[in-house]
Amino acid sequence: MQLNRLSLSNYRNYKSQSLELPAGAAILAGENAQGKTNLLESVFLLTGGRSWRAARRGDLVAFGQEKARIEADVFSRGREFHLELELPQSGRMQCAVNGIKQKRQGELAEIFRCVLFSPEDLYLIREGPAARRRFLDAALCQLRPRYGLALAEYTKLLEHKSKILRTQEENPSMLAVLPDFTLRMNQYGAILIRYRAFYARRLAEEAAKIQQAVSGCGERLEIRYRTVSAVQDPEASEQQIFEWLSEHAKSHEKAELQSRQCLTGPHKDDLEITVNGAAARGFASQGQTRTAALALKFAEREILKDDCGEYPVMLLDDVLSELDSRRQEYLIQQTQGGQVIVTCCEREGRLRQLKAASFLVEKGAIRPGN
Ligand code: ATP
Ligand code: MG
Repeated sequence: MQLNRLSLSNYRNYKSQSLELPAGAAILAGENAQGKTNLLESVFLLTGGRSWRAARRGDLVAFGQEKARIEADVFSRGREFHLELELPQSGRMQCAVNGIKQKRQGELAEIFRCVLFSPEDLYLIREGPAARRRFLDAALCQLRPRYGLALAEYTKLLEHKSKILRTQEENPSMLAVLPDFTLRMNQYGAILIRYRAFYARRLAEEAAKIQQAVSGCGERLEIRYRTVSAVQDPEASEQQIFEWLSEHAKSHEKAELQSRQCLTGPHKDDLEITVNGAAARGFASQGQTRTAALALKFAEREILKDDCGEYPVMLLDDVLSELDSRRQEYLIQQTQGGQVIVTCCEREGRLRQLKAASFLVEKGAIRPGN
């Protein structure tokens, strides 16, 4: 998978910018707040229109402008594709592939895929369950468009149901529709749980190999998927998971009304991660935590490769300076199999080993560097 050309207009701090990218590595260097992460974010959006950091879609549009555009020429599955995204301040995002408008943004993930590794990911292990759910969701949205659709529906239903529970005194008539919300949440919830369970199993296999290789001392990384306790086997059929969820929801009906919250469902899921048998969140050292974060991200890359036969584009946002030399070495070696776009403040240290095209990012403009 290869991003050959990228064009941005009125996107974040880019007014109008085109960039030709080489097949291997590209290094984007620049001082703080010049547009390095913005550029990686625009590449990531080409995988299906989701940003990992924009609170609102309108944030992606340059201040004072009505809409942003991202265009790209990519090579994927043995063919060239021209991708276009139009992001208005408000309203629906439009996307087109080879000039043909697409109904769903999820279609883009069938063509273009990336893995992003940024300094925040180094805390993936240490943070609460929400960070690991975000990781699972982002990975699965690219891998399976059906997952993205189910997740969007589930999230909408969860918001509505939470509001009904929260405002039950003011709007008691809404309580009549609560069972319908629970039913639909369980239907979509069953889809999410099953996908997450299979993904977590693959992730565990791949990440364990990477942890062992990078740690240099045979560290054992284990990952287990944790979901609603009533789900006896998260890899069972959707229908079976739905039935377990429904029974569980029934037994929590009263408690949900009393606590005015949605108490149970895959919105509480987590990945339990252990290193050498001890919970990584509480016991892993800094180095073990970083290695495990690296292992998760590179496992995501391997899974995407297995799925479509080619490596996704790797986006490394300012992460190298945060890693020690052994981990840097691993990362640089691994990325040589595919295209990688690296951002950094200064091109130094191990980055020099990377045979790469250099660019300089300054005030929302990119020019060849040295
Ligand atoms: P750092 O090295 O600090 O991570 P960076 O080069 O990655 O810096 P970016 O996160 O890409 O920096 O952001 C660059 C600038 O883009 C920031 O100054 C921010 O104010 C600006 N910016 C963000 N959103 C918009 C927008 N919608 N319109 C215009 N400018 C924006
Ligand atoms: Mg940045």
